Amino acid sequence: MDTSYSLYLHIPFCRHRCAYCDFNTYAGLEALIPAYAQALCREMAFLRQAAGERPPIHTLFLGGGTPSLLPITALETILQAAHTHFSWHAPLEITLEANPGTLDRDYLRAAYAVGVNRLSLGMQSAQPEELRFLERQHDFGDVIQAVEWARRAGFENLSLDLIYGLPEQSLARWEQSLSRALDLQPEHISLYALTLEHGTPLSHWVDRGLVPLPDADRAAEMYELACERLDKAGFEQYEISNWARPGHACRHNLQYWRNLPYLGLGAGAHGFAAGYRTVAVRASTAYIERLQNAGAPSVFPRTPATAEAIPVDRATEMSETLIMGLRLTQEGVSLQRFEQRFGQRLEEHYSAPIRRLRRAGLLEWHAEALRLTPRGRLLGNRVFMEFV
Ligand code: SF4
Repeated sequence: MDTSYSLYLHIPFCRHRCAYCDFNTYAGLEALIPAYAQALCREMAFLRQAAGERPPIHTLFLGGGTPSLLPITALETILQAAHTHFSWHAPLEITLEANPGTLDRDYLRAAYAVGVNRLSLGMQSAQPEELRFLERQHDFGDVIQAVEWARRAGFENLSLDLIYGLPEQSLARWEQSLSRALDLQPEHISLYALTLEHGTPLSHWVDRGLVPLPDADRAAEMYELACERLDKAGFEQYEISNWARPGHACRHNLQYWRNLPYLGLGAGAHGFAAGYRTVAVRASTAYIERLQNAGAPSVFPRTPATAEAIPVDRATEMSETLIMGLRLTQEGVSLQRFEQRFGQRLEEHYSAPIRRLRRAGLLEWHAEALRLTPRGRLLGNRVFMEFV
């Protein structure tokens, strides 16, 4: 296999479902974790069998859910299975998403010892009332402690996630959370605007008038403030929602934004490989059953857990490459790489929308690449719609 993949492993368990979250995750089913970990290992074996060889990978991302709920023995078993069934290309980036309230010193030491070398902590806010509102199960003290333990364990690549644009959140409180995050000296920061997801408690509260809608203009001010603060603190913004110290951009997520192939295993996981977008069965119980009962080999990139494998036609792949690539605020979409991949010139294939969006001040050419302007970053969805 010439292609090098990124490998995503989904861990769909949380102690409590946060009020705003619509991810594929389940609270109160932690008893399933051992069987789930075994199923994940079986799915890796099936994928290797389908590929006919060990697919090469250069990043591995344990996302969720709350992957830090995995006992160390399960984490180690999963990483050993990944070693067995994939061919690892050094230096391998292995990320564990972690909820600060689930960690302790021994866990972080052991996670580092079994090979995790990047930790992504869901800090979200430094304000106790905001964390309560979001129904997070940790406080900012847990974040400080987790960062200290992680550093002592040896982690040199730490990322913090924060949420902004909460109802009635003031600019001053947002700035305080940002400052507290910067005080912890992470290598990477992700900032996400709170969105109302259908069916979540938060969206019910808003529908019933118990909570005001998040204010979009205020959220835009918060975003601009964050851009300034992070720039002054020496972070490079490399994606609409992501900042890193030089050399610490998340290699796993870069694979998504460059629309390059990745393998997604676990309940509800998505993948993109061999011209197909794959989606695994969502429910963790159904996922475990499928893997326990599976016998017949699958055709790559499918596994017994695959619920859907949708072929991606060329026009779709071109438009997805452009839309995802425009999220990369510095790199943008390289003209040369686009032409090498599709045999067509980007500026000719999309000449009309590019002209319109450049006139509107939302796109620019920079170093042989097309990218968003600072204004375009605020209006990304409007830009992307032009290329759908
Ligand atoms: S910890 Fe993360 S994945 Fe779990 S419910 Fe909260 S936001 Fe969702």
